[in-house]
Amino acid sequence: MANVAFIGLGNMGGPMAANLVRAGHAVSGFDLSEPSLAAAAKAGVTPFATLAEAVRGADTVITMLPKGQHVVAVWEELAGLVAAGTLQVDCSTVDVASARRVHDIARAAGCPSLDAPVSGGTGGAAGGTLTFMVGGTPEAFAAAGPLLEAMGRKIVHCGSDGAGQAAKICNNMILGISMIAVGEAFALGERLGLSHQALFDVASASSGQCWSLTSYCPVPGPVPSSPANNGYKPGFAVALMLKDLLLSQEVADACGATTPLGAAAARLYETFETEGNGGRDFSAIIEMLRKA
Ligand code: NAD
Repeated sequence: MANVAFIGLGNMGGPMAANLVRAGHAVSGFDLSEPSLAAAAKAGVTPFATLAEAVRGADTVITMLPKGQHVVAVWEELAGLVAAGTLQVDCSTVDVASARRVHDIARAAGCPSLDAPVSGGTGGAAGGTLTFMVGGTPEAFAAAGPLLEAMGRKIVHCGSDGAGQAAKICNNMILGISMIAVGEAFALGERLGLSHQALFDVASASSGQCWSLTSYCPVPGPVPSSPANNGYKPGFAVALMLKDLLLSQEVADACGATTPLGAAAARLYETFETEGNGGRDFSAIIEMLRKA
């Protein structure tokens, strides 16, 4: 059994911490938001009013925070709070530069560390079925294994510092682009008088097959569980998809990679968000593509 401090108990962190409790670990928690802290306490997390109190005596600290700047600020504070040897794991989705920076902060404090972003959304967080993409040393990866297994189903060691964030950003760039491709195809099919079901039946068994089509179809009908059947309630919100696409473009610029479709996808999601759709599921972008 590990003594875990979980920092950031929002939509993802709350249910992830609850799964650690369910697996028999002692979990203390801290969040700036009172309601998030109270909800985690109901799930068995011991709540604390400060970061310092929450991490006292912890052998592992996990962070699940909105952005790179929050993770850097918390990990800088942690460096003065935790004992050398404390395992630090960041599960937030952040830019690669911030991920590498927090590894350096932890290393200077004598702490093993991992960047371990997730995919699978709030459903995966609640069900303990997340995919973890992990960067860091093999030793830190091995040490975190039982904890990550309590929160996820597939855990991939992608390489050294920042490799987990790199994998996450590349995967979500594929997702953002492929959802637009599928949306455009359905919008074109509609103009050609093709039924949604006919296009789905053909493309899902042909070379157009992809997750955006077969698991998350952006029109109601063919995949009953997709957000299109539920008024495009997220799911995975437009604002989060835009965040990840902008991270991919930032890092592409920094390393000189050419990602023209990633750039186009980021622009389209930016427009869609500006039109007031930030809180809707990202598959709703088909509505804008129909008008374009
Ligand atoms: P959220 O806003 O629901 O939760 C973040 C929590 O962090 C909030 O409760 C906030 O109060 C807390 N927080 C912020 N600064 C803090 C600080 N200094 N100290 C303590 N607590 C602090 O966000 P979320 O949906 O849980 O997402 C968290 C991360 O996971 C993000 O990086 C997001 O991109 C990523 N992610 C989200 C999803 C999703 O479907 N929601 C899927 C995969 C990855």
